[in-house]
Amino acid sequence: MPVTVSPVVRPRRGLWEQVYILEIGRGLGVTFRHFFVNLWRHGLRLLGRRAGPGAVTIQYPDDPAVLGRRARARHRLLRRADGSPRCTACLLCETICPAKCIRITAEDSPDGAVEKRAGSFDIDIGMCVFCGHCVEACPVDAIRMDVDQVELAAYRRRALLWDMKALMQEKPEPRP
Ligand code: SF4
Ligand code: SF4
Repeated sequence: MPVTVSPVVRPRRGLWEQVYILEIGRGLGVTFRHFFVNLWRHGLRLLGRRAGPGAVTIQYPDDPAVLGRRARARHRLLRRADGSPRCTACLLCETICPAKCIRITAEDSPDGAVEKRAGSFDIDIGMCVFCGHCVEACPVDAIRMDVDQVELAAYRRRALLWDMKALMQEKPEPRP
């Protein structure tokens, strides 16, 4: 199949953009505009006057961040009614993953209705870019990113390699 290549034209920068002085001034102007607008709004609210919403700094991690309904968090593998993974090892998610961080091995399924199942299913969360393409590509809704768990940092890289057992837990144990 022929591959269509769309060249991206790099925008040309004028003299003022190349010396950056004007751009630095414009950037500072935006920063100070936000600063004084927020100061004004919060000041009015402190005085009990009506004002638009001012920006608020969330004291994370003391105050947990509220995730949006469409936020993509850690992956989970869904189960069938009998508890087995819903994944049919079609490898679509592994193929579409731009970070190449999904590794699946397929094996024959004992269930006559399904030809294959995943023998192993690993995701290297340290490489994942949380694009959600794996979720979109799955034809059987076997993988989702809806656990609302975004605190995934670890001290060792191998702790970021999530296997099928970990991915099938709704609330996983703390990783070593
Ligand atoms: S979210 Fe994106 S990068 Fe992460 S495993 Fe899925 S397809 Fe790959
Ligand atoms: S796309 Fe879905 S069914 Fe296919 S291998 Fe990935 S999780 Fe399994």
